[in-house]
Amino acid sequence: MPHRTYLTTPIYYASGAPHIGHAYTTILADALARFARQSGDDVLFLTGTDEHGPKIEEEAARRGVEPIELCDEMAARFRSAWERLDIGFDRFIRTTEDEHKAVVRAFVQRLHDRGHLYAGSYEGWYCVHEERYWTEKDLGPDNTCPDCGRPVRRIEEENWFFRMSTFQDALVAHIRDHPDWIVPEVRRNEVLGFLEKPLGDLSISRPRSRVQWGIPLPFDDDHVIYVWVDALVNYLTASGAVDPSLGPEAPGFEDPTGSWWPADLHIMGKDILTTHAVYWPTLLMGAGVPLPRHLLAHGWWVVGETKMSKSLGNVIDPLQLQEQYGTDAVRWYLLREMPTGSDASYTPERFLVRYEELANVLGNLAQRALSMIVRYRDGVVPEGDAGGLDDAVSTTLDAVAAALGDYRLHAALAAAMDLAREANGYVEAREPWAQAKDPARAGDLDDTLATLARVLGVLAALFHPVCPERSAELARRLGLSGVQTLQEARTDAPGGRTVERGDPLFPRVDV
Ligand SMILES: [Zn+2]
Repeated sequence: MPHRTYLTTPIYYASGAPHIGHAYTTILADALARFARQSGDDVLFLTGTDEHGPKIEEEAARRGVEPIELCDEMAARFRSAWERLDIGFDRFIRTTEDEHKAVVRAFVQRLHDRGHLYAGSYEGWYCVHEERYWTEKDLGPDNTCPDCGRPVRRIEEENWFFRMSTFQDALVAHIRDHPDWIVPEVRRNEVLGFLEKPLGDLSISRPRSRVQWGIPLPFDDDHVIYVWVDALVNYLTASGAVDPSLGPEAPGFEDPTGSWWPADLHIMGKDILTTHAVYWPTLLMGAGVPLPRHLLAHGWWVVGETKMSKSLGNVIDPLQLQEQYGTDAVRWYLLREMPTGSDASYTPERFLVRYEELANVLGNLAQRALSMIVRYRDGVVPEGDAGGLDDAVSTTLDAVAAALGDYRLHAALAAAMDLAREANGYVEAREPWAQAKDPARAGDLDDTLATLARVLGVLAALFHPVCPERSAELARRLGLSGVQTLQEARTDAPGGRTVERGDPLFPRVDV
């Protein structure tokens, strides 16, 4: 039985366009999904759009369209952005789907049936943009939201609440017992720090008098379900664990055997870690559903020293970069440059540094090796000893596996690029051009060229999850029918294959 890997991105709020933050999260998930598939796993890679809530309602009203029309347009926009960035998700979920709405209602009914919900009233400050309440002392100057700076509203309303506080001790115990549940450690410590204070209860509904665009509570038609609760349940919906026609007693809630639940990895930006590491697991505990296995919170892209924001007009458009440099270059830059989990700064200079790494190290190696096979051996890989770099290959594959084991993707990619560097060094040391001049060293030249053909096959496999298009092209030029798995590539016998030199894999760009 192949191992199964279920990984998710957050579903993106359908009121805004895809930006570099969305692109990073989704490319990160895509690369991890591709690494998992490459090692033989069955993979479910889920992404989608979060389509309920007052923000959508207000934006739709502003544009003079129905909320669902806005959602249709935005979902299509996200899908097409992901297509252009070569993101191979398996399922794109929309929270306006009937199946999802039914699972959410069953889930909330189940919390109610188990005694974890109560009706109460809320009076205080509310930010529509984040869909959240603030206490007086949290507010910024002139009654603004401390997160986004927008004006908050004073509201007083009836809500249904989830007894989140009941699960505080169980959650802390879970985090302590599973040191790698939240990755990286710095984020885990933040969550533990947050949980040192008493946890409040969570308002899980909004009155319909104020918010119409949402899923009605199954037991109180005057309320719709809080958009965050609605959104988080998408991970369970897409897993197929729960048959919503069976309602809150559906057996999949407690025993998801045979479905994709529990998720192996939820990936998200650090700004929404609390919802994933506190709200979501306590809601699952309340419903008696097993918890996801890992949460990976990544950092933010900043521009130079400044946070990227619409109001500052410094938002980097990933699709514009894609148009200019190609999909693989954008993917490589984002994943290689940001230490997974930390913040990183976007600058055009750093983008070029990373691009030139592709062009001058990997691209150059491929160009030299293929040219020499064409020139010295009529384009056919000789039957030499292909193992000249096998120690370096083994070391690299170990380093990549170790880095992926704790989701340090940037480190895995650095190790892959180091192998290309080492192979360039091997060319310099072996001097195949000198070997070619001396008929007595024909066997040495065969070994050099066969070794380079094998290592290029390994590199095509290693770079495939991040640079799928160019890696497939490299494999084609090596005379392979497709990119090999790492296992195939490391012991490959390339002798006898006809190769093609082609244009540079990563052409020089004008600055
Ligand atoms: Zn706000």
